[in-house]
Amino acid sequence: MGKMCEAEAAKSGLGSGGMSWRYLFMFSIMLNLSLLFSRFTQDIKTSATGFVGSGEEQRKPDLSPLSFTDKPPACAVAKMGTNSYCSAIGVDNPVINLDHGDPTMFESFWRSMGDRGSIVISGWQLMSYFSDIGNLCWFLEPEFARQIRRLHQVVGNARSEDHHIVVGTGSTQLFQAALYALSPSDASEPTSVVSAAPFYSSYPSITDYLKSGLYKWAGDAHTFEKKGPYIELVTSPNNPDGYVRKAVINRTGGILVHDLAYYWPQYTPITSQADHDLMLFTVSKSTGHAGTRIGWALVRDKEVARRMTKFIELNTIGVSKDSQLRAAKILETVSDSCGHSDDSDHPAENFFEFGRRQMTKRWEQLRDAVVKSGMFSLPKFTNDFCNHTGQTIEPHPAFAWLKCEGGIEDCESFLRGHKILTRSGRHFGVDSTYVRISMLDRDETFNLFLERLSGIRS
Ligand code: PMP
Repeated sequence: MGKMCEAEAAKSGLGSGGMSWRYLFMFSIMLNLSLLFSRFTQDIKTSATGFVGSGEEQRKPDLSPLSFTDKPPACAVAKMGTNSYCSAIGVDNPVINLDHGDPTMFESFWRSMGDRGSIVISGWQLMSYFSDIGNLCWFLEPEFARQIRRLHQVVGNARSEDHHIVVGTGSTQLFQAALYALSPSDASEPTSVVSAAPFYSSYPSITDYLKSGLYKWAGDAHTFEKKGPYIELVTSPNNPDGYVRKAVINRTGGILVHDLAYYWPQYTPITSQADHDLMLFTVSKSTGHAGTRIGWALVRDKEVARRMTKFIELNTIGVSKDSQLRAAKILETVSDSCGHSDDSDHPAENFFEFGRRQMTKRWEQLRDAVVKSGMFSLPKFTNDFCNHTGQTIEPHPAFAWLKCEGGIEDCESFLRGHKILTRSGRHFGVDSTYVRISMLDRDETFNLFLERLSGIRS
């Protein structure tokens, strides 16, 4: 509308006689108030339900367990802070999604830390591909490497002094880099990759999705009998069942990859400093920063570290520097919180104490709910001395490995009938009487889950 027309409009219709302006003004205020109110009620419902949907719309059981790329469940999307959540608006008993191990439980700790975990990156910084051209892993930020070694020293969970560090986009990328680096390139057939069942459900699909000529998924390590070289993945504590593990095959020609994503004091007693040839760690499970997509490998052999670096160079030409520096700050904050801070006037809460307290409470509540229901069982763990805390403590794994009792054969479907989404034992190489349940969701979701589970009776 030109200036002339605007002036005309002001003078005529809308502008005539003051009354219309007043109506318009009041109408606009009422509209804004009603929008604000509906947004407010959405937020309340969202914060009460966490990451939930409304029943039928949830992902279908035949979808891959890694369904982030699948169409999201139809739901109302609400905003809370800077995040969007799927909220079952208007539904009394929303679907509780504990299928993924999304570590949102740790958000409340990081909120309480305020700016201690923040970094600022100016527009001109971190622009080059290169981080440390003198280093074997040339895209590794030196500050991140320093904080990794410091944290392992503070926690006492792994020796890093004699190891090269390779950074990856999550330990998922490092796992693939390890398979690439450890498989002989001149072998007549792909190297077998195995892990003892129940194994982490992503290992088979990540190993085979590109149909590599270098390596191939060969299933449960307990039943693996093929002669020749193999790679055994040892996950300790294990995802999904939480038990501490050792290699099961122990044959010459075997190479071990230790996935130590959960070897941190909030989940398990730290009984010794791990000192394996190839160890994988991730901020996803250590500090809860899954969205930062940063993992690291501690690799004893220089040539293996070089080949892993090559894989990441070919795959993504390095790893986000922004993310590495964010991860460095997060690790620094965690180490400081363990009583190693110079800031003794304002000591932060110990991160691992926070995590351990939360996990202890959740496991106690879960065991109570299971007893109340009488339809399920859980693994039992033995206490062990933790060198980090100096106390004898019980393991509190990041996942509950729940078994349906009383002749229920498909535990995942059974729980889905009660609007609880879990991951079936089938995805982990065992039978469907088991399901894996995330213990790391937000309080609101976890409390709803407890209430729902304890109400299921035969
Ligand atoms: N290993 C194990 C045993 C895991 O449970 C996970 C995450 N679920 C990963 C690796 C992958 O971690 P990241 O987010 O660093 O890719």
